[in-house]
Amino acid sequence: MASPTILALDFDGVLCDGLIEYFQTAWRAYCQLFDRADGTPPAGLAERFYPLRPVIETGWEMPLLLHALLEGVTDVAVLADWPAIAQQILAGTGLTADRTMAVVDGVRDRWIRTDLTGWLSQHRFYPGVLEQVQGAIAAGVYPVIISTKEGRFIQQLLAQHDLPLEAAQILGKEVRQPKTATLQQLLAQPPVGTPGQATIWFIEDRLLTLHRVAAQPDLDAVTLFLADWGYNTEAERAEAHRDSRIHLLSLSQLVQGFPAWVA
Ligand SMILES: [Mg+2]
Repeated sequence: MASPTILALDFDGVLCDGLIEYFQTAWRAYCQLFDRADGTPPAGLAERFYPLRPVIETGWEMPLLLHALLEGVTDVAVLADWPAIAQQILAGTGLTADRTMAVVDGVRDRWIRTDLTGWLSQHRFYPGVLEQVQGAIAAGVYPVIISTKEGRFIQQLLAQHDLPLEAAQILGKEVRQPKTATLQQLLAQPPVGTPGQATIWFIEDRLLTLHRVAAQPDLDAVTLFLADWGYNTEAERAEAHRDSRIHLLSLSQLVQGFPAWVA
């Protein structure tokens, strides 16, 4: 089983590094949500935000994280207890996750509409990953992107590169289900043209997401990888390394091909 039939990949932090865009979008959304003039972010805010990126699961949390930092919540507290802090901010401000998400997506849509080149320039693909996916396609593997980002944003970014993915292979936030449910579907009903008995390998940079997959007995056959180049902390990488279910994967292993990933 040294290769998958379906290669499932997270997008942010696995294929693409959009940390700079992420902060800019978060800042613009924060200004809109908290009635602040959309000026230059305070000095040092971006530098605090970047290493805290691993705590964020879905885009609506981004402007709330900036709000927390500007309200005096410490980085240590964010790393230890972000989900509870985010819920407290929602309760305290009367905002909802849906409204906050709509503002974040609106900021991104407007940016793409008015300055596509500038928006694209704030992203970079990790070295070698797209080439690996292309090689996998050539070898008959079916890749699928499973992300909490809207698929239309992923399509804009992939359009710059020669990666022949169909719309059905980009499962973004619009599918409105957890990644575990998407993996269960892929396993139960493998895409047309792939073997009836699917072998799924899933690369993700968020340890909590891998833990959720590992907690589903019907996903026991899915091979799990934590991308060590993505948005995760040293402690999370160490935990993944100790976990017999999860393979800690580096970019240098990735480019060596499938057998090296599970070696
Ligand atoms: Mg990610």
